Amino acid sequence: MGEITAKRDPENGGTIFSKIIRKEIPAEIVFESDNVLAFKDIHPQAPVHVLIIPKVTDIESARTIDPKRHAQLLGDLYEAANSIAKQLGVFDSGFRLVLNSGPDSGQEVPHLHMHLLGGRKMNWPPG
Ligand code: AMP
Repeated sequence: MGEITAKRDPENGGTIFSKIIRKEIPAEIVFESDNVLAFKDIHPQAPVHVLIIPKVTDIESARTIDPKRHAQLLGDLYEAANSIAKQLGVFDSGFRLVLNSGPDSGQEVPHLHMHLLGGRKMNWPPG
């Protein structure tokens, strides 16, 4: 399995997202619960571009999801996505949820994250 090393935070064994979870670096947080955090992407690719992440730091990508252990968490991520889409006004117009997983997908940060993109018409196929 190809490893994604960019954006790892070797001091803490986590990634840049661990620092956002610990509030050590700023982020524009739009949603927070006990196990989920969502914040605006620093390089938005659409008028609405939010990253929705689990607060646990040991899920590298969709490739390392364990359906038995993570079923509730996955439900919580999708529930958060719908809630954020409503909050940011793109629920009715529609939005895209993306889980980049592994090197060929372009994943840079090895911490499971769901991109929520909306506010413009999306193209298909994606680049
Ligand atoms: P991916 O390419 O799927 O791994 O997506 C990682 C995303 O994280 C990219 O869209 C980056 O723009 C975003 N990103 C990286 N660092 C930060 C940060 N400090 N705050 C918000 N978004 C970030």
